[in-house]
Amino acid sequence: MVPEKFKCYLVDKDASGRVSARVADVATADLPPGDVVVRLAYSSLNYKDALAANGHPGVVKRFPHVPGVDAAGTVVESGADEVLCDDPVLVTGFDMGAGRWGGFAQYVRVPHDWVVHLPPGLSLRDSMIYGSAGLTAGLCVDALQRHDVQPESGPIVVTGASGGVGSVAVAILAKLGYHVAAVTGKPSAHDFLRSLGAAEILSRDEVDDRSGRPMLAGRWAGGVDTVGGNILGTILRAVRHSGCMTACGLAGGNDLPITVFPFILRGITLAGIDTAWVPLALRREIWERLTGPWCPAGLASIAQFTALENMAAPIVDILAGRIQGRVVVEME
Ligand code: NDP
Repeated sequence: MVPEKFKCYLVDKDASGRVSARVADVATADLPPGDVVVRLAYSSLNYKDALAANGHPGVVKRFPHVPGVDAAGTVVESGADEVLCDDPVLVTGFDMGAGRWGGFAQYVRVPHDWVVHLPPGLSLRDSMIYGSAGLTAGLCVDALQRHDVQPESGPIVVTGASGGVGSVAVAILAKLGYHVAAVTGKPSAHDFLRSLGAAEILSRDEVDDRSGRPMLAGRWAGGVDTVGGNILGTILRAVRHSGCMTACGLAGGNDLPITVFPFILRGITLAGIDTAWVPLALRREIWERLTGPWCPAGLASIAQFTALENMAAPIVDILAGRIQGRVVVEME
């Protein structure tokens, strides 16, 4: 049974244009359209959710809004043969938490073809320790493998390493036997990154070349970049011949100062990663791998847990780049 009202983290804009957020009860009838209703056990905090919680116009299309690109829970209503009541499921991305209400809530309603059945062996809680950040890290690792970047190819660089995407990427790549150089702006995160398996720790300055040289000495077989800007530009100039760099984020800026030289002189690949709209088949494949061969022993160590009522502080922290690892939102 779905109740008439449920609790959510509601973001609204008043007549003067001021955006505010509070935990509130809303009517189930106001959920967006869809043929599957999920009662959530967990959601998680991603950078995009923090933008939505502040009413960022690039994310939020209308008010009132419920952020949350991630949701994990149990199906309580379904009009689709593929998804049954009581199925444990997870939903990440698509338009959830952006153009329509998302997972900072006790319930979500979504189209059935957005729903991923929880792979056997993965708990609802662990699926949200990964969340969109983990799926993104997984897609980056998949892209590196598709471009034949193997552990023996050479060192791999991960930027924004202490953040959500970065920490999962470090942990997976280390588990798979890659030599991982973790780039972080947080001296306090060095022990954390070593515990995830980072072989080297670099400061942001070490990958932020301002010399203007179009090429740098070849250093990296590949990497995972979550920050963009001159750091990604620097790393691309230092990728070895035939290497592959994945780009998924813009925590440090949305520009990319680069020439064509690394592409035409070293044959490198810049692989773009979009998690929100990744097709369901690939999504399922990555979740299977995150459950099995890629699952790091220390997955739980990257998570902190919070309730909807306590979201204000982690939202401020993730926008300031201060979060270490992942923030999981507990609904029950
Ligand atoms: P987090 O905030 O958890 O991590 C981002 C990390 O980037 C920070 O912890 C910090 O790590 C580093 N950082 C922050 N500010 C700067 C800066 N000015 N310069 C350099 N580094 C900085 O975010 P997520 O891991 O959840 O997301 C990372 C990025 O990936 C975001 O831009 C997000 O929007 C994007 N993203 C994209 C997706 C896609 O589909 N393409 C899906 C999910 C996320 P440290 O202190 O260790 O350096």
